[in-house]
Amino acid sequence: MTRREALTVLAGSAISQGKAAGAIIRTVLKDVPPEALAGGATLFHEHLSLAPDFMPKWIGLARGQSPQAPPSDGLFFMRDVDLMSDELRAASKESVACIVDGGHPDMGRDLDFLKKLSMQSGMPIVAGCGYYSEPFYPPEIATMTEDQITRELVRQAHTQPVGAFGEIGSWGDITDLERKVFRAVGKAHLQTNLPIFTHTGIPGKSAMEQLDILEAAGVKPPRIVIGHVGNLVDAKVEVHKAICKRGAFIGFDRQGGTGDARQVPMVVALIDAGYADNLLFSSDLSTANQLKRNGGAGYAKTVTVYAPKLREAGVKEDTLHGILVDNPRRFLAFVPPR
Ligand SMILES: [Zn+2]
Repeated sequence: MTRREALTVLAGSAISQGKAAGAIIRTVLKDVPPEALAGGATLFHEHLSLAPDFMPKWIGLARGQSPQAPPSDGLFFMRDVDLMSDELRAASKESVACIVDGGHPDMGRDLDFLKKLSMQSGMPIVAGCGYYSEPFYPPEIATMTEDQITRELVRQAHTQPVGAFGEIGSWGDITDLERKVFRAVGKAHLQTNLPIFTHTGIPGKSAMEQLDILEAAGVKPPRIVIGHVGNLVDAKVEVHKAICKRGAFIGFDRQGGTGDARQVPMVVALIDAGYADNLLFSSDLSTANQLKRNGGAGYAKTVTVYAPKLREAGVKEDTLHGILVDNPRRFLAFVPPR
């Protein structure tokens, strides 16, 4: 190993622990040291800003039907800064320290809305960057080369206050176009150091291939979350363990609802196998019925609804604290290139 390679390895391992000199978490309003978010949970995959027609299209595609009609009654909740500020202030009171928004332009994410929301609510927000999945790609993705997509991602990362590439998805089994985007995201990571979180189709389709592609592009596994693997229900958690063993994070990121009962035993099995440091929790909140305003548990439900189920299953408090508070900060912290 040359001296330069040794230094790169050292830098890589230090960055992966979020402790490298100069490591920051990039929120939409400012860069913060990871210690600034030690006072509560960081929810690594939520939605605060989606287009009104995004979920109707998503649900239609998931059911193999034509898109549902977007809601027409009044201001869409993800465009209502006062309503959303109330929701985020409530989440703060329930020990949420930071929320990562998994959207980008092809999902209708509005950066100015996120900035206003963060200012008004006081909630630190990390914005994602990238492309979602083939049914949602802008048409030019089909004709752009991998390097052109990389350049566009790097341009966005250098000109916008985005703190991660995510959610980067494959809709069903990963397609050639999605492979191209994954490779481009991997290359863009090498130029920006932004961490990456992914979306897998139910049930955790192409999870391992997503990791393969990103690793082959040169991304270190501790900089990656393979998402939505709670949907891959398997008492032996074989794929989950294989991903953790390679050093990546896995996302149990649709929590606080009916899926919890199936997923708690999988999480316990992974903790027992020694993988607590590889787990990340979130709720992927995307619909208005989950808001406090509408009688739902709100954005903090990972903390207020899901975590108590793990406590009841015997998970220790310091383990939970590590997963909710420390793991996401270690994932998000990066050293911006000069
Ligand atoms: Zn999502």
